Amino acid sequence: MAVLVLGGAGYIGSHTVYELIDSGEDVVIADNLQTGHLEAVHPKARFYKGDIRDKEFLDKLFKDENIDSVIHFAANSLVGESMVDPLKYYDNNLYGTMVLLKSMVENGIDKIVFSSTAATYGEPESIPILESDRTEPTNTYGETKLSMEKMFKWVSKAHGLRYVSLRYFNACGAHISGEIGEAHNPESHLIPIILQVPNEQRKEVGIFGDDYNTKDGTCVRDYIHVTDLAQAHILAVKYLRAGNESNIFNLGNGVGFTVKEVIECARKVTGHKIPAVISPRRAGDPAVLIASSEKAKKILGWKPEHDSLEEIIETAWKWHKNHPKGFQK
Ligand code: UDP
Repeated sequence: MAVLVLGGAGYIGSHTVYELIDSGEDVVIADNLQTGHLEAVHPKARFYKGDIRDKEFLDKLFKDENIDSVIHFAANSLVGESMVDPLKYYDNNLYGTMVLLKSMVENGIDKIVFSSTAATYGEPESIPILESDRTEPTNTYGETKLSMEKMFKWVSKAHGLRYVSLRYFNACGAHISGEIGEAHNPESHLIPIILQVPNEQRKEVGIFGDDYNTKDGTCVRDYIHVTDLAQAHILAVKYLRAGNESNIFNLGNGVGFTVKEVIECARKVTGHKIPAVISPRRAGDPAVLIASSEKAKKILGWKPEHDSLEEIIETAWKWHKNHPKGFQK
């Protein structure tokens, strides 16, 4: 029996495949390679190029492979892009998931682990954020992820399928081996952008606002290592295999760092001055996002292992230093 990883050539997907294979799982990957990279596909996984909106492709995959459960990463995930092209997000994220669920139900596949996001909460009611808190997304990306969660809820009631939704906070870092890492084009995430300075790809980092109500005025985020996220997916698959009910979990370290603290830590790790300038606020950025992951710890037995910011940036730096152009040669 294999685990099907949709979007297994992307950032978090590829890291999850590496951990699944290390834990002895048989892995099948499907990815349309729109944002994923063939080079990130683990050599021991069976790869199929295709799109989740293509039902014939999925039906054939479920017939040809002996799939026990699905891990679903195949989605667009850029907040800014989702605001200028919302229908792209409804099409790929929401419509894609609808086609996927149709095919799963018809083919009798009843377990799915799904990558969701802290963006489902919007502006938090209180910190740390609990799974039971209000969900009022402030951007299309978060809205489509929340709608996907709801689609799982109703389909599970009607068809008996069970799901685990994992709401990630700020995914970062790279595989300890340095073989795979983060490679978005264009890059919009803080840590890879900071590391472009010592990599001589940009002169300075822009800090998006220093007038927030935080200790140094810059936004606070909960940075969580991609390998720790990957481990949570494996635990979630095991949780569903053990017959447990559908559930939603936050994944973060429960510790917040300001943008300035992240830059300072990167200066230490790289030994580079990394000049920074204050820029205007970015629309839709909440001041503070910190997870309570007590539920995932208690119920899934999850335990983040790479929880120091320094270690997170060290692994990211190892990857970016050796792959300044990402997977491009
Ligand atoms: N940020 C920044 N400069 C950048 C990119 C990001 O100051 O060039 C800030 C951003 O406003 C946010 C934090 O860094 O407060 C993390 O942003 P990122 O895009 O990495 O993740 P997000 O919080 O949007 O998921």
